[in-house]
Amino acid sequence: MRTNLRTHPTRPLTVIRNLGILAHVDAGKTTVTERVLYATGATHKRGEVHDGTTVTDFDPQERDRGITIFAAAVSCDWDGHRINLIDTPGHVDFADEVERSLRVLDGAIAVFDAVAGVEPQSESVWRQADRHQVPRIAFVNKLDRAGADLDTAVASIRDRLHTVPLVVQLPIGREDGFTGVVDLVRMRALVWGAGGEAYREGPVPDGLREEAGRRRRLLEEAVAELHPVALEEFCAGAALRDSTLAAALRDLTRGGEGVVVLCGSAYRNRGIEPLLDAVVAYLPSPLDVPAVRGTLGGEVRERAADPAEPFAGLVFKVTATATGRLTYVRVYAGTIEKGDTVLDATAGRTERIGRILRVQADRNTEVDRAVAGDIVAVIGPKSARAGATLCAPDAPVVFEPPSVAAPVVSVA
Ligand code: GDP
Repeated sequence: MRTNLRTHPTRPLTVIRNLGILAHVDAGKTTVTERVLYATGATHKRGEVHDGTTVTDFDPQERDRGITIFAAAVSCDWDGHRINLIDTPGHVDFADEVERSLRVLDGAIAVFDAVAGVEPQSESVWRQADRHQVPRIAFVNKLDRAGADLDTAVASIRDRLHTVPLVVQLPIGREDGFTGVVDLVRMRALVWGAGGEAYREGPVPDGLREEAGRRRRLLEEAVAELHPVALEEFCAGAALRDSTLAAALRDLTRGGEGVVVLCGSAYRNRGIEPLLDAVVAYLPSPLDVPAVRGTLGGEVRERAADPAEPFAGLVFKVTATATGRLTYVRVYAGTIEKGDTVLDATAGRTERIGRILRVQADRNTEVDRAVAGDIVAVIGPKSARAGATLCAPDAPVVFEPPSVAAPVVSVA
């Protein structure tokens, strides 16, 4: 069955981004998610948090309470890339659910409120993400609010999260007058219209040129301090080339050495497209992260992100829907096809893969197979639970259970 796999066109793994959004409750995670789905064309109607129509909040209880409790995964496309968005609960009572979703992410957007800065739950989720070595970019949201200040929020990211903020945008206008950003990597101005339509790009406005130049220099200095190639170019006296800067930002993000900071107002639909560009440019694909490790009989087994390896995946969520029991699986290695029998290595039972669904915001698309790097929902498994390892029966492996009780590693 798998011998002819390579004759089937599948997307190269480098264009997949398995992404989570981490935030303190109320920072705007649901709104950012909605705007991402809207910007990528996954939804055509903008859901508003306050009228209970948001797409990712499936659960009525969740809608009632106005907080995002249960994880759900949604696929969308941006700039030739598939983004699988795994919703991560922000509420502190759901720590092990956060932990489980962190295991299946390759990267994350941390959303902060531009007035409140780093809040306690963003701090605890940040530490969990540190433990799982999830590369992150930061989005300082609600820049339209009275009292919003990017610099203050960035200072709290530096001081409370003990990371190096790499600020790649300069806001244009303040509070109610916030209309756009200067992209400090390309030195271009992006300005949104009043109606939430796509931005217009142009040269940096005269009045902001000096400030933008100063901030670009600060960004270059911060990057040069962390990145050897950038340092070399920087020490040669010249300004960094845009391409060097972008490549260094990518390396530093993926290595967890610094955090790219962007800003906007999700509510007003400002800043979402550059945020998606940054996801594609800086966060890793499934191929850029280390092979996942599991064990069998005390022996360590590695599974690489390769469609030709034996299948291994992790169940990270199970939901009951009208379509049936949906088992969400992150495929780490190999391929599953419709009709396959797989082993639930955690429970020691075999399960049948009846159907494979790509879950989108407004519909599910049935697919014939899913390959390493993918996130899909399968129908068929009757008893596999969240946290279970599914694998090829002839190549068993069990991924370690999440280490909820593990001590928090301080990165100070
Ligand atoms: P979550 O709890 O992190 O999912 O946050 P929500 O997306 O539910 O947002 C919390 C509240 O903040 C809601 O009332 C949103 O309408 C509001 N909100 C979200 N983004 C923005 C923004 O950019 N500006 C302003 N002023 N309000 C926002």
